[in-house]
Amino acid sequence: MPADWKAAWDIIVELENHGFSSFIVGGAVRDYVLDKPPGDIDIATTARVEDVQHIFPHVVDVGVDHGTVLVPTTSDVIEVTQFRGEVNLNDVDRSLREDLARRDFTLNAMALTKSGEIIDPFGGKDDLQRRVLRAVENPSDRFEEDPLRLLRALRFAHQYQLSIDQDTERAVYTYSENIQEVAVERIANELEKMTQSSLTYQSMMALLSSPVMQALEGLKVKELYEKLKQNRVHFVVDSSLLLWSLLSFDWNNETSAREVLGTFKRSKALRKDVREIHDIALQTRREGWSSWLLYQLGKERLEASEVIRALIDHNQPNVALLHDRFCKLPIQNKKELAVNGKMLIEKLSIDHRSEIGDGLRRIEKAVVSGEVVNQKEAIYEWLKGGK
Ligand code: ATP
Ligand code: MG
Repeated sequence: MPADWKAAWDIIVELENHGFSSFIVGGAVRDYVLDKPPGDIDIATTARVEDVQHIFPHVVDVGVDHGTVLVPTTSDVIEVTQFRGEVNLNDVDRSLREDLARRDFTLNAMALTKSGEIIDPFGGKDDLQRRVLRAVENPSDRFEEDPLRLLRALRFAHQYQLSIDQDTERAVYTYSENIQEVAVERIANELEKMTQSSLTYQSMMALLSSPVMQALEGLKVKELYEKLKQNRVHFVVDSSLLLWSLLSFDWNNETSAREVLGTFKRSKALRKDVREIHDIALQTRREGWSSWLLYQLGKERLEASEVIRALIDHNQPNVALLHDRFCKLPIQNKKELAVNGKMLIEKLSIDHRSEIGDGLRRIEKAVVSGEVVNQKEAIYEWLKGGK
């Protein structure tokens, strides 16, 4: 077993020493078959939560209802869950199969024993080799049980470059509308995971034309699809910030659709970022990219604004050039300013809070735009000049 798995291995040995059969299951086994380092490692066991708590006193209880606990290790936190379905201690093979049968796709329905044997009752390994995504047993049943799997199908197909098996794909079409029943947080989580593998123009088009995505109310899926169809821009979506910025912009009216991120319960910080990205995209269309606008957005966010601007203007984004300009700005954030509020109070005897704030903002703007150099004395002189 590879070294990254050592912590999981130790837990399995400990559980087995107490008489509980245990296996690595789910995504980590898929990664093992693909010879990739595992993401999070999940263990399925015959032990109940109480047994796991007894064996590992420092476990974190996350969902006793689901029989899951987190076991902290020196390098990681490992999820240990009692077998899904009926647990028969006298027939571990059957119990394990029942657990695996309750998973979504064949590639996620394999188990790994401590001796490195792969237990694969639904042909996940074969499917991975053929690069096919296939639901476990009857696809309609799987999507009816949990419509989030519709979106997960798109995610895994994208992430691992798989084609979707015909029967599974047919069921995706049939049940696509059911995605609306799923909690927004779960949907948002899958969408964000989607960007962990960069979405190219083609993968964006494939995603946006899927009936599952189109059934997602609130997001500007169809509008974005049309926009991309009219204007084949060169960019990849590799951050959730960019994805949310694109999916929450009202392409028909060229305005920021602010309520979208609220509907999907995204954080205040993300909402603020996206609002500024949208506002500045619209502003740059009128005024071009000034140093001040670049500075306000910062390196991480300016790509999203530039992509939106280019999509509206029907031309190509020039992110590399803007990154270059950003890196050459006299300062890249407020902390680099040669003066601070305390200095202004001492030097200029202004002590009103709002005056200090306004003053600093004016200085910041002047330094960024090259009106004054970022040196204390130069800034004081500039201020004395009545600025
Ligand atoms: P990732 O590498 O993105 O974490 P993953 O396959 O590990 O992918 P998780 O969401 O972490 O996905 O879930 C772990 C495992 O639990 C999956 O591999 C799958 O076996 C099972 N699983 C997760 N969500 C579902 C679901 N909605 N329906 C059925 N099985 C699921
Ligand atoms: Mg996982």
